[in-house]
Amino acid sequence: MTLDARALVLFATLMGLVLAAALYLLSKGLPESVRGVRAWALGFALQAGGALLVGLRTIYPDVALIPLGNTLIVLGHIAQFVAVKQFLGERVQRLPLWVLGLAVFAATLAFTYAHNSFPARTAVITVGSVIPLVATSRALFRGASRELVAARYTAVLLLGMAVMLAARGAYTVASGNTLSTLFAGDLFQFVYVSAYVILSVLSGLAFVLLVAERLRLELERMATLDPLTGIYNRRTFTDLVERELARAARAGSSVALVVIDLDHFKGVNDRYGHVAGDAVLKAFVATAHGALRKQDLLGRYGGEEFCVVLPGASPVEAVMIAQRLRESVDAHPVSVGDRSIRYTISAGVAHSNRAGLDLDSLVRDADEALYRAKARGRNQVSLAGAADAPSDVAARVAGPA
Ligand code: GH3
Ligand code: MG
Ligand code: MG
Repeated sequence: MTLDARALVLFATLMGLVLAAALYLLSKGLPESVRGVRAWALGFALQAGGALLVGLRTIYPDVALIPLGNTLIVLGHIAQFVAVKQFLGERVQRLPLWVLGLAVFAATLAFTYAHNSFPARTAVITVGSVIPLVATSRALFRGASRELVAARYTAVLLLGMAVMLAARGAYTVASGNTLSTLFAGDLFQFVYVSAYVILSVLSGLAFVLLVAERLRLELERMATLDPLTGIYNRRTFTDLVERELARAARAGSSVALVVIDLDHFKGVNDRYGHVAGDAVLKAFVATAHGALRKQDLLGRYGGEEFCVVLPGASPVEAVMIAQRLRESVDAHPVSVGDRSIRYTISAGVAHSNRAGLDLDSLVRDADEALYRAKARGRNQVSLAGAADAPSDVAARVAGPA
């Protein structure tokens, strides 16, 4: 059997072009938050072009194809480095990349025209490719390994490619055969080209996997969280509360539910603008996180209405927690620009002792209590079904301050 590296190079070219086109088409359908796919597509296209030029030389014996082809391949690795940095949302310093590309071009030119040497060119291309490959791999390991499993696959494949390139470079230089080329029918060079093509395709696919994983996480986040405040949206919150109620039913425990509404919030918007209103909503969520316990669930029910579930809390404890939150809000005005916006909340507390472990009944009770808190003048907490003013309940339990 004759080993023809040219057939492989042609195959690599076609593969690179197909993958570049596929990634380019993929990039067009992605949201703006998923970046880098186009740069990776460019990387594939550059490598395909490079492979074509290097391969063409066996038919078209123009030595000018060597430095051009090899530089394009190195530029392809550099483009994929840029792709990963963009994907991770990290800044890319372009100058060192251009310097590397130009240095590779100048050196391959020198080792083609001034001093024609295959091992010297190989050393240059090896160094020029290994640097971006290792940098890409390192960026992936550091930037996304916690969040995205596919990042590690991609990083390992790129590192494998770097190791293989380095081994091949070392072998070629050590063997010192200045007459040999990639296409001399040498088994080692043939295996090298095959492995290079396979690893290149696999790392491209791993990157696509990475993109798909990012997209999945993104969609999951969009479907479960409120984009403004980052807490559970109503749908997720409702699901989680249903689960909590079922758990409480099994355990024979109780649950309190608090509905919170920001007071005169329309006035905040009217006076300070919607952007400031949004800042107040975010500040409220931060304050709520500070006042709630770890096991408590907080969700945005809609507009300026929030809902909290307090597993295991007694009615009095629930009122105390709501009071603590109300006081904390009252004591912490929100700074927006050079303005300080004071706002207050009203809260209605419902408890499963009265409403049962049923979400609709709990919300109905909490809404009624909230309505009472609003009617009594706002900036207060009301407990469903309680005759006395809820602040008195809390004060009685807490004892003198
Ligand atoms: P009350 O004390 O009776 O609750 O008065 P209110 O003004 O808070 O009540 P109302 O329901 O009339 O107004 C709620 C306002 O909340 C109206 C709406 O523009 C505003 N709002 C709802 N969602 C958002 C939001 O995401 N951002 C901002 N800035 N405002 C919002
Ligand atoms: Mg409201
Ligand atoms: Mg309101």
